[in-house]
Amino acid sequence: MQLIRNMSVRRKLMFISMVITMASLLLASVAFITSDRLYAQKTVVDSLSTMASMIAANSSAAMLFGDSDAGLETLGFLKSQEQVQAGVLYLRDGSVFASYRREGFYDGLPQPDVQRQSVKFRSNHAEIFRPVVHMDNAIGVVYLRSDINAVHDRLIWFLGIVAAILAVSLLLAFALSSQLQRIITDPLLRLSAIARRISTEKNFALRVSGSRRDELGHLINDFNCMLEEIQERDEQLKTYQAELEDRVAMRTQELEIANNELATSKEQAEAVAKRMEYHAHHDALTGLPNRVLLNDRIRLGLAQARRQQTMLALLFLDLDRFKIINDSLGHTIGDQLLRNISKRLKTCLREGDTVARLGGDEFMILLPDMKSASDAGKIGTKIIKSLTEPVNCNGHELHITTSVGISIYPFDGSDAETLVKHADISMYRAKEIGRNKLVYYTAEMNAGSRKKLALETNLRSALEKQQLHLVYQPKIDITRNTITGVEALLRWDHPTLGYVSPLDFIPIAEESGLIIPIGEWVVRTAFSQLREWHDAGFGELTMAVNLSSAQLSRPGLIEILNDALANSGITADKVELEVTENVAMRNIGSAIMTLEKLKNMGMSIAMDDFGTGYSSLGYLRKLPVDTVKIDRSFVSEIPESKDDALIAQTIIAMAHSMNLSLVVEGVENVRQLNFFRQQGCRVVQGYLFSKPVPAADILKILRTQETTGMVNMVK
Ligand code: C2E
Ligand code: CA
Ligand code: CA
Repeated sequence: MQLIRNMSVRRKLMFISMVITMASLLLASVAFITSDRLYAQKTVVDSLSTMASMIAANSSAAMLFGDSDAGLETLGFLKSQEQVQAGVLYLRDGSVFASYRREGFYDGLPQPDVQRQSVKFRSNHAEIFRPVVHMDNAIGVVYLRSDINAVHDRLIWFLGIVAAILAVSLLLAFALSSQLQRIITDPLLRLSAIARRISTEKNFALRVSGSRRDELGHLINDFNCMLEEIQERDEQLKTYQAELEDRVAMRTQELEIANNELATSKEQAEAVAKRMEYHAHHDALTGLPNRVLLNDRIRLGLAQARRQQTMLALLFLDLDRFKIINDSLGHTIGDQLLRNISKRLKTCLREGDTVARLGGDEFMILLPDMKSASDAGKIGTKIIKSLTEPVNCNGHELHITTSVGISIYPFDGSDAETLVKHADISMYRAKEIGRNKLVYYTAEMNAGSRKKLALETNLRSALEKQQLHLVYQPKIDITRNTITGVEALLRWDHPTLGYVSPLDFIPIAEESGLIIPIGEWVVRTAFSQLREWHDAGFGELTMAVNLSSAQLSRPGLIEILNDALANSGITADKVELEVTENVAMRNIGSAIMTLEKLKNMGMSIAMDDFGTGYSSLGYLRKLPVDTVKIDRSFVSEIPESKDDALIAQTIIAMAHSMNLSLVVEGVENVRQLNFFRQQGCRVVQGYLFSKPVPAADILKILRTQETTGMVNMVK
């Protein structure tokens, strides 16, 4: 059974058809042979019965009369019957009356059996007994024995034929089935061949050919339908896969871009941080170390000098008449001059010396590790000499001199502050004795900085003597080309000292406390000035007033402001208070509180000089500020300096993100203006539009704007 199960379909089909053929042939043969045999036997029975009846009828007389010859004669007819082997007539007592034997037949004769009248078949013969009847009395028995070899022979012959037919049929069946099985197996083989190809090639577009209406046809049809479905799904799958791959590729690309952007912005952030750090320690104009860095170096130098028991010198330099050059030739030339002088100063120094710019035209030189005090003087003289050479600035041959004050550790002080103060005092002395001079500090000078003292004394009476006045610098809304407000800036004109810069006297005013009355005067003057402009028809104009740290930290500021508002009649929303980063940082807790109160009064707060202080950008979040003023040190090099542009952009982005207004100060040319315009800045301030001017000029500008709708640029 297992064997059959493992056969190929082809073999199975052949096997089945052969088995069926054989079985049906065998059945037919058996039926045929059986019926033939029955027929043959019936023939034997019939002929034996007929012959026995006939002999019985013909021999009764002979037996009655005991005429055995007549009986023999009757039996003689049997000679013509080849198959009959023997014929016997028995008498009633069983004795043989007459008998016939075929030639060559010697078998013994049986006892008569009257009871049995039917034909009996033995292994090789058939026999019959038949009574001989006379007048209904049995007088004897006829016995006939017939040879049935013919029947056997016929059977054998038939068997032979059947075997031959069977063999031929089997051959035929084999030949036919081996051909006909293809009808079934061919499509199956095709099916399996295609299935195999599909599984190796993964080509679902293949189809099994052939159109039939039978089950195989259906199978092929179903198979093809299934393939169609698979192909469709496969294609769908491929589309999905392709889509997925596309998406993955897209995402990867996006990720790469994001990564790059991240890297770039990280680099930019680092660059900004570096630049900010640089700005915190260097002077924007000359690139020299600033006061902060200088102080650090002085401390380091002092520590070293103490350890190694050497001397350290500080040279305080102030350029003579720089202000005049700056005012007459313009700040561009002034700036250029400062840069050139910085370079020249550096050439006079050793490695390890520091030249720092303290602001304006003031420089400080640190000479650590000095062997003798006179070495400092030699360097000072060298500097004075080198500056006597004219400096070329944009085609101008400028003659500039400097006054130098020297203080020396350990003679003139043991800490940075004292040494700086004493160098400053001696420099002032140098100026007093006629400029272009070098003066060592001496104990007699310790009465304090004459300069400061002189300024302070003079400043005390400045208010009373009406030497102070305000100038106003417009702030322009560049999207509408109109003036939105002005900033009040303090001016001091002294009959003998001349023009004193607020950068010089404001710190003194702060230190001495004079800033309180001066600041109050500024506020009141500026507010009533604004009232005048409002009355003149410019009711939207705002006024910005600078507040110093002393003003912010002292009580009474709010009362003063309230009073000034009430007196002038202007509303708080027209007032902007400018505080610098460091002012706010000095006492951040109380500063936040005061600024918040001011804000609550309706005034807005601007963070002045933003970016120059020491606080991080993040600190801005803590302060209640409405506006950020980008310091002009970031503006001056724009757009040439990529770093400054980047810092400005960072500040702008941050202000935007915090919803703060922006004012760009110190805009001096159109390129700077365009840069900030592109950055989305609205309000700018600077010489490009107007320098700080007297109140009357502001009114003129406002009137022109009113008639022309434009702001005139003042060069
Ligand atoms: P600030 O508040 O930053 O004022 C801006 C300064 O930049 C002003 O100098 C102004 O003249 C100058 N400026 C404006 N536009 C340009 C420009 O395009 N290029 C250049 N190179 N400079 C420009 P100013 O008037 O000498 O004031 C110096 C500082 O003195 C002020 O800086 C402010 O901190 C302080 N200050 C002035 N007035 C007052 C005041 O009434 N009270 C207080 N507390 N401080 C004042
Ligand atoms: Ca200001
Ligand atoms: Ca400023």
